Amino acid sequence: MRRLEGKWADCDFCGEEESNVASRVWQEADGELRDWVVCLFCGTSNARRVGHIDRGIDPEA
Ligand SMILES: [Zn+2]
Repeated sequence: MRRLEGKWADCDFCGEEESNVASRVWQEADGELRDWVVCLFCGTSNARRVGHIDRGIDPEA
C-alpha cells in the first residue's frame, strides 16, 4: 500500500485528511488500470481508474 498525496489523500466520506492509501494497480480485461483507495480512518474503500495500459498511469492519480 502507498500513501496518497494531494487531492486523493483526503477521505471524501469521513473528511479525514491524508488518511487514504492505495493498493497495487491492476489491469482490467479492457486494458484499464485500476487500484483501490482505502481510508485508514473510516475503512471506506473505492476502486478508481488510474490510467490505461496504452497510456500508462495517469500522473494525477
Ligand atoms: Zn474516511
